[in-house]
Amino acid sequence: MAPIVHMFPCLQDNYGFLIHDPASGETATIDTPDAERILAEAASRGWKITQIWNTHWHPDHAGGNAAIKAATGCRITGPRGEADKIGTLDRLVGEGDEVALGGVVARVMDTPGHTAGHIVYALPEHKLAFVGDTLFALGCGRLFEGTPAQMWASLGKLRALPGDTKVYCAHEYTLSNLAFALSVDGRNPALHAYGDRVRALRERGQPTVPTTIADELAANPFMRADDPALQAAVGQSGDAVEAFREIRERKNVF
Ligand code: ZN
Ligand code: FE
Repeated sequence: MAPIVHMFPCLQDNYGFLIHDPASGETATIDTPDAERILAEAASRGWKITQIWNTHWHPDHAGGNAAIKAATGCRITGPRGEADKIGTLDRLVGEGDEVALGGVVARVMDTPGHTAGHIVYALPEHKLAFVGDTLFALGCGRLFEGTPAQMWASLGKLRALPGDTKVYCAHEYTLSNLAFALSVDGRNPALHAYGDRVRALRERGQPTVPTTIADELAANPFMRADDPALQAAVGQSGDAVEAFREIRERKNVF
């Protein structure tokens, strides 16, 4: 049976995600940006949170762990590499581990770059991926703790997912990412089509998340650092890591 995903805005520009397995009655929150809001969203659906799945240690992702655990007694799974920083983890996971929500299975991928231990939860059977701050619609996370080579390799794992995988990014940054993407890849017709779509969504106050792997492969400059035309547009040729580094540095000062 397919899980139900419930998404809602949290804090300034985060998204909260609850994933519910109707067969077992289990519910997980992906990260904990705002404990009170997440508990209220679960209660309004008649769901009880039984698990937390953390992507990385940043407070807008793990800051509500203790409060949600205190309220529900849930089990907390998170990145092995960030256990010390998060402090509240019951189970430590990394590349290739499986995390189960009843009969729904997520596979863990290590995606260092934004933070050193960042992980993504992919649900191949249901073509869903919870990517935290690794990949955004038309963007990617800032490299606080990783190198361009690491982040390009992490994005490579996401690039390899099926194109119709729904990608749940943790922030609504799409319009500002669009402005930057147009500045480096303005000759890409797929980017213009994507831009029209997300501008219309935001004008109606709707989220641009989830996106899909196929849409990001077509329009996201950080996913396209191996594209010869984009490389030429940023004064690079051939080396995808160098092109990625250049695009990321330009974004940092955009
Ligand atoms: Zn973060
Ligand atoms: Fe974040």
